[in-house]
Amino acid sequence: STGTLLITGGAGYIGSHTVRHLLTLGEKIVVLDNLVFGHREALPLDRVTFVHGDMGDTALIEELFSDHQPEAVLHFAAFAQVGESVADPLKYYRNNLAAPLVLLEAMQRHGCRRFIFSSTCATYGNPVRVPMDENHPQDPVNPYGASKWMLERVLRDCDHAWGLKSVFLRYFNASGCDPAGEIGEDHDPETHLIPRILMAATGEIENITVFGTDYPTPDGTCIRDYIHVNDLATAHALALDYLRQGGNTEAVNLGTGRGFSVNEIIQTAQAVTGKTIPVSYGPRRPGDPPELICQPTKAKTLLGWEATHKDPREHIQSAWNWMTGPKKGRYAD
Ligand code: UDP
Repeated sequence: STGTLLITGGAGYIGSHTVRHLLTLGEKIVVLDNLVFGHREALPLDRVTFVHGDMGDTALIEELFSDHQPEAVLHFAAFAQVGESVADPLKYYRNNLAAPLVLLEAMQRHGCRRFIFSSTCATYGNPVRVPMDENHPQDPVNPYGASKWMLERVLRDCDHAWGLKSVFLRYFNASGCDPAGEIGEDHDPETHLIPRILMAATGEIENITVFGTDYPTPDGTCIRDYIHVNDLATAHALALDYLRQGGNTEAVNLGTGRGFSVNEIIQTAQAVTGKTIPVSYGPRRPGDPPELICQPTKAKTLLGWEATHKDPREHIQSAWNWMTGPKKGRYAD
C-alpha cells in the first residue's frame, strides 16, 4: 500500500492536472496552496485534503507533516514569469528557493525522502546544441531559471547528506488543458503564447504580439517544444513509481522532441478556431532563446514516459474548449 502525497501548488495549472491524474490512480493527496495563482475550484475538494497556506510557514508545515506523514512531496508551487524575475529577482529567490527550504527541513525531520520537483528547461540558459539533453550545460540567463537550478543543487546536496531522492522534471513549454474542459489554464496576468493567441481570437485582447521576427530560424520567430499538461501529469506519476522502486536522484527532460515557431502556432490556432487572429509584430522579449527543443529519450528509458499529444492542434483545441466552455477560461475564485 502507498502513503499520502503532499502536493504543493496543487491548485495551479500543472498541479491541478496532475492531482486529477493521480486521483484516477487511487493516490491519497494533501494539497498545499496559498492560492496566489492557484484556484480552489481547480481541485475536487471532496477527494483531496486541501490546506490553504504557505510552504514557507514553518509551524504550518510541521503540523502538516505530523498530521499526514507524507510519503513523498510533489513540489509545483513557484513563480514562473521570466520577465518579472528579471525585474524582481528577490521575489523569485524568496519563493522558489528560500521557501522550499522550510519544506525540505520538515522532510528531513520526518524522514520523508522522495521529492518530485517541477524544474524547467530555463535552467539550461541559451542552448549550445538542440535538441537539448539532460547533460546540456546549465547556465540560466534569468533569475527564474537560476532559482530552479539552485534548488536542484540543494536537492542534490540533501541526497548526499541524508539520502533525499529527487526527480527534477525539466519541463519545456507546458500547454493545453484537460480535454473535458472542466479545468484549465487561468493565469492573471496571462503571458503565455497559446492562451494569449486564443484571447486574441475571442476579442478579449486586441491582438497577439509576436515577440521578434529576426531570429535565426526559418520564419524568424522563436521555436519552442510544446508539451501537453496531461503528458506532464503522467510523467509525475511515473517519476513517483520510479522513486518508490528505489530510484536515484535524476534530472529528466519533458518535451515532445518537436519544435514549432510562434508563427506556426498562430496559423494552427486560426485553423483550429476558425477565427481570424489579429497579429502585430514587436521586438524580441529579453531572455528568449531562439530555439528550445527537448531531447526526450531519457524520460523514455528511465521512466517509460513518452508524450502522447505531440500535435499542437490538440493543445490548442483543448485550450480552446476551456476558453469557450462554461467557465470561459476563468475560475470564479
Ligand atoms: N510569445 C510571443 N507573444 C506573446 C507571448 C509569447 O511571441 O504574447 C513567444 C515568446 O517570445 C516565446 C514563445 O512565444 O518565444 C513562448 O512563450 P511563452 O511565454 O508562452 O513561454 P516561455 O517560453 O516563456 O516559457
